[in-house]
Amino acid sequence: MVELKSDVELVAMREAGRVVATVLASVQDHARVGTALRELDVVAREVLAGTGARSTFLGYHPAFAPSPFPAVICTSVNDAALHGIPGDYRLRDGDVLSIDCGAEVDGWAGDAAVTVIVGAPRPADARLVDTTQRALAAGIAAAQVGGRLGDISHAIGSHARRAGYGLNVDYGGHGIGRRMHEEPSVPNDGRPKRGMPLRPGLVLAIEPWFMAGGRDSYQVDQDGWTLRTGDASRAAHVEHTVAITESGPRILTLP
Ligand code: MG
Ligand code: MG
Repeated sequence: MVELKSDVELVAMREAGRVVATVLASVQDHARVGTALRELDVVAREVLAGTGARSTFLGYHPAFAPSPFPAVICTSVNDAALHGIPGDYRLRDGDVLSIDCGAEVDGWAGDAAVTVIVGAPRPADARLVDTTQRALAAGIAAAQVGGRLGDISHAIGSHARRAGYGLNVDYGGHGIGRRMHEEPSVPNDGRPKRGMPLRPGLVLAIEPWFMAGGRDSYQVDQDGWTLRTGDASRAAHVEHTVAITESGPRILTLP
């Protein structure tokens, strides 16, 4: 069932979104050459504790995973695109790092992700990250009352295709509200003017993830979580929680 949120509920969701943005900014600040991913999770835990927010990631155990997620952020480096578990790996110069965070405040969830390049960016990586960010912006711009879900999917997918990047519609965006993952799912590719009509109060986490090598396949590590590009090329992933309103899309996960 798709739940539409009232204006008052959107204000409450904004608080969860603000916490997520604060965590991401703080983790991003600490993501330097030599920092261990595990240390970034500690930073995120401290920020969450300071706000009183609950992590929606810690202990999350979806059907596809063999074990509950053990951290409050996902850290996915280079060919890892999604769901990376923050471990002992220390960041190196030029690493492409996706940081994903979810938080719950007063029963409402927020979910967002950024991709940053640690140290000196390689031009190909800078282009990948930039294109993924542009796709997110285009997806958000398409989140308009009177449009359809497929408009968002198409806006995202066409950015990947134009750039020659790989794209897989698994693990795309999703509705969000009382729970982190609600209906509808928002595939990262699709046909315009198709799918569910976009109504005021619909809140979506929109999250393109692109693979630089141009292949559409991925693989999952032994840990059952970390999702990597099938061709070992690098990936980028960005996300915002966005409310559809009469006055246009409202990003709830801005700082
Ligand atoms: Mg996320
Ligand atoms: Mg999400």
